[in-house]
This record gives sequence, structure tokens and C-alpha cells, in this order.
Amino acid sequence: MRGTIGAGTAAAALSLLAAGPAEAHPVSENGYPVIQAVADCEEWFIRDVVFQTAPGEPTQILRDFAEWFDVNIEPVTLGYDDDYSWRPGELIPPSYTAVSNHGSGTSIDINSALHPLGQVGTFTPEQSAAIRAKVAEFGGRLTWGGDYTEIPDEMHFEVRR
Ligand SMILES: [Zn+2]
Repeated sequence: MRGTIGAGTAAAALSLLAAGPAEAHPVSENGYPVIQAVADCEEWFIRDVVFQTAPGEPTQILRDFAEWFDVNIEPVTLGYDDDYSWRPGELIPPSYTAVSNHGSGTSIDINSALHPLGQVGTFTPEQSAAIRAKVAEFGGRLTWGGDYTEIPDEMHFEVRR
């Protein structure tokens, strides 16, 4: 997820979901087309952890980063399922006016149990510095939710166009 875009209410979000957010929102917050079916994602693994992301460049960026993270930060598995990638129909709080970039398969959550939404400092300062340096190597094409000021999301990494 990513910051606020305009005003909205939970009631509006519910009606959007009822109407089908895919129809209301052809693209996710970052401008990538919303993906309707998992079959349209590219599937890849880090050991037993499955990721489903938008084919082509987004997958290349996210996979490259996740493989680096797995070796250099911490293993991308805790023996249970707490990693996420494509998720359909999810709107972004608090405004609920845009589709999460998970809906376009252009973001991933790594080790969400260790790095919960809204918490800061779930990585050591050294790990955070290493993550920022690695993210910077992508030249603006990758951002880290740990840098969000409104609702920090340290598990979250997403592609920018
Ligand atoms: Zn996320």
C-alpha cells in the first residue's frame, strides 16, 4: 500500500468492492494494469516461498531484490506463510480510492510477521541502511514501504514506473 490520494470513506470502499474494484480501477496506484487472475502473473520461488508478480520488468526488479534480501538481510522464509505478492481487489487505506500495487502484481511483502504494517525499527539500523542502498541501485524503479511517512510498511517493496 501507499499513501493517501484524496478523501474517501470505508463505506465508499465497501461499495467499490461490491461494484468490483477492477472495473472501477483499471490500474493500481503506480499506474500498472490491475491483474485479474493469478494465471496472468509470473510465478517464481525463493526455496519454498512462492511469489506471483506482473510478468517482465516488475518481476525482474522484485525478484532481483528479493533474492538479494534473502542472502544479505534475512532468509525469505520463516517456515510459514507470511510473504505476499499479487492480491486482487485491495484498496489503499485510509482513503480507499486507489487499488494497492499488490493488485497489479508490482509489490511484494517479505516476512510480514517480523515486519508488521505500521511498525518502525523492525530492521536494525544496519539492515535499513543496506536495504536503502540496494533499493537505490534500481534508480527510482523500486521503493521501500519503510520510507513511507504516513503508515510505515517495512515488509513492503514496490515497483515504480
Ligand atoms: Zn504490501
